[in-house]
Amino acid sequence: MLERDVGVAVPASPVLRSTPSLGTQKSSLSILGATGSVGQSTLDLIAHAPEQFEVIALTAHSNAEKLAQQARDFGAKLAVIGDPSRYDELRGLLSGSGIEAAAGEAALVEAAARPVDCVVCAIVGAAGLRPSIAAARQGRRVALANKECLVTAGDIFMGEIAAAGTALLPVDSEHSAVHQAIEGENVANIERLVITASGGPFRTWSREDIARAEPEQALRHPNWSMGAKITIDSATLMNKGLELIEAFHLFAVAPDKLDVVVHPQSIVHCLVEFCDGSVLSQLANPDMRTPIARSLAWPDRMTAPTERLDLVKLGALTFEAPDLDRFPALGLAREALVAGASAANVLNAANECAVAAFLERRVSFPMIAGIVADTLERAAGNDLMRTAASIDDALAIDLGARQLARELIEN
Ligand code: NAD
Ligand code: MG
Repeated sequence: MLERDVGVAVPASPVLRSTPSLGTQKSSLSILGATGSVGQSTLDLIAHAPEQFEVIALTAHSNAEKLAQQARDFGAKLAVIGDPSRYDELRGLLSGSGIEAAAGEAALVEAAARPVDCVVCAIVGAAGLRPSIAAARQGRRVALANKECLVTAGDIFMGEIAAAGTALLPVDSEHSAVHQAIEGENVANIERLVITASGGPFRTWSREDIARAEPEQALRHPNWSMGAKITIDSATLMNKGLELIEAFHLFAVAPDKLDVVVHPQSIVHCLVEFCDGSVLSQLANPDMRTPIARSLAWPDRMTAPTERLDLVKLGALTFEAPDLDRFPALGLAREALVAGASAANVLNAANECAVAAFLERRVSFPMIAGIVADTLERAAGNDLMRTAASIDDALAIDLGARQLARELIEN
């Protein structure tokens, strides 16, 4: 039995903070992409701690029914659907509830800009860029899952965060892990920053078998339950490449200090090596509610209803180097990171198009990396490798790269 269970007073530690920093007031919160995997996990945490949070705005792309249900269940003030053709449906579903309904991209941005304590940015893809920027400008706290906005316009996004003095909390599990491992550290003392990769469903497959992989097989992730796009990115290892770029912008660590290690159990989420030989890590079962909880409660912690880690039961944790021959997307992303300017933006746009085409069975699995490589190659000749001067410019480059990628897919 634990000491505190038998009433033995435990003295306050002189090295640890003992006063809760959350206070007794409810935190107000908006979720962009509420109907997705991260959005639903966030709402699940809130359902377990209703006394801590007040939901202000919820957004979705096209699932009006789910969005309206969430807005009613959590007493949201505003529900925004990205697809304007779903506006009437949403309004009808919310009639009599007192919840405001809106639609379209401008309404998404307006929802992101509403004053709240925390905006959870969980839209998938470059579509999340404008809303995430609006959330960054809002100035309180951004819990960022939308890694593509850092890949598409990382310099601009981080500039907005700094200008507004917004607290940026990474939701991506590896980056949440790094954030926890390096808090209070001097970045100059970091020698190597390693993020782990599960290796995806094809980790042990031969090149020939991977070439014949079907969408259903690629969508069967061994450890994580996530949206379709990131699940395919995990199968190609492009997700880990995007995460290297994400880490570069979040932590300002030089590309040659960033590394990836394959760790099939997805328990160890990062390894941060310091100049004195210390390696700091964060371990947790693969459940997004843990990093989301951290981003909502930081600098405090909140209880997450996750299965607790049992290392004895697991027995062994294993690590291996990624295979860039079978998974060339990771190498392409690293090259784009090193190339700088808009290479990562082009890479991301081409990847989004190629993943969508793969899911529609219009291209094979290896073609995803092939289309990204060919788009990057053609981008310079189309003036797409310039440094983006603004968000509009970054989105123009994104659009140009999509056009190139679509031409390649058609042919
Ligand atoms: P998802 O596909 O499950 O959900 C995406 C959400 O964004 C949905 O609510 C959808 O309605 C909305 N959306 C999609 N397209 C939109 C558009 N054009 N305009 C407005 N809204 C749009 O995705 P997810 O798995 O929850 O991932 C969300 C983000 O979090 C991604 O950037 C992903 O890389 C990142 N992420 C996810 C996980 C995970 O476990 N799912 C882990 C780490 C990082
Ligand atoms: Mg991740």
